[in-house]
Amino acid sequence: MRVLGLETSCDETGVALYDSEKGLLADALFSQIEQHRVYGGVVPELASRDHVKRMIPLIRQVLDEADCAPNEIDAICYTAGPGLVGALLVGASCAQALAFAWGIPAVGVHHMEGHLLAPMLEEQPPAFPFVALLVSGGHTQLVRVDGIGRYQLLGESLDDAAGEAFDKTAKMMGLPYPGGPEIARLAEHGTPGRFVFPRPMTDRPGLDFSFSGLKTFSLNTWQQCQATGDDTEQSRCDVALAFQQAVVDTLTIKCKRALKQTGLKSLVIAGGVSANQALRQSLEKMLGGMNGQVFYARPRFCTDNGAMIAYAGCQRLLAGQRDGPAISVRARWPMEQLPAV
Ligand code: ATP
Ligand code: MG
Ligand code: FE
Repeated sequence: MRVLGLETSCDETGVALYDSEKGLLADALFSQIEQHRVYGGVVPELASRDHVKRMIPLIRQVLDEADCAPNEIDAICYTAGPGLVGALLVGASCAQALAFAWGIPAVGVHHMEGHLLAPMLEEQPPAFPFVALLVSGGHTQLVRVDGIGRYQLLGESLDDAAGEAFDKTAKMMGLPYPGGPEIARLAEHGTPGRFVFPRPMTDRPGLDFSFSGLKTFSLNTWQQCQATGDDTEQSRCDVALAFQQAVVDTLTIKCKRALKQTGLKSLVIAGGVSANQALRQSLEKMLGGMNGQVFYARPRFCTDNGAMIAYAGCQRLLAGQRDGPAISVRARWPMEQLPAV
């Protein structure tokens, strides 16, 4: 089965062609980051308008690259939520229009299921069951995964998502959006131990997270540097390292707890923050100590992309799922509500 996947939930237009026999045939991405950077975050209306501009050229590019004619495509998948409604509507309308014109089915995909399954596109994919840590711009969740659509939420952030905390911490130190990669870059030059931040909610049982306090901690520390005339590039690196280390340690402690609680030894990390090298290393070390394994996607497929949507949609299509022609999207959509396949 050959599937075209469209992603437009936020500020990336992603298009990919996935074949259930041959694997990923082509994928293309346009990131709007430069357009939103001057505003320090994503402006929804600008995002929607730009998806309209990029979608058709990207689809053409992907079909050209894969040397694929429209009549060789069996179905179209699009991100139906969660995300920015205006942005989602662009992908949904485009998918439904093409599906109608080409006489093929369209299936709406859950964006976080896309992230969750992205590591399946790699050479050594994880096998069910596993624990998944979803760490993106809008989500921080620990999920027990027993199969596609068989998700049990084990814990989640009570306030900011991990990626959001990276972005906000970066912003308040004057770093550009998105802040995750910026903090990671500065942290490499940080002085270990100069600042030590708390590991929120690790001293009590449970698998929930809280990251907003860390952001405040970073702000206070940075303001202290400013007040004493020590707001240098080195201090910025030192705060970045202390912040990143606190996030990484906290996530590692909770992942270990989730693995222990479920008795599982496979951990999948997905979403933009799973591109973070310090996090990968810390989790690899933890899993190595318990004879387990950690799985993640190549960096390009950690953040938003069309390939994960094409892959996730293809699995649902193969299981027989078909959606009607309605153009319907959801800003909020708990992943546990998805049907099992
Ligand atoms: P969601 O998927 O929850 O709807 P989103 O689509 O905006 O949110 P993603 O595209 O998965 O999120 O990831 C973007 C986030 O990942 C941003 O917050 C960004 O700062 C963060 N990020 C990207 N690379 C890194 C990195 N190397 N280290 C830390 N954070 C990173
Ligand atoms: Mg993005
Ligand atoms: Fe995302």
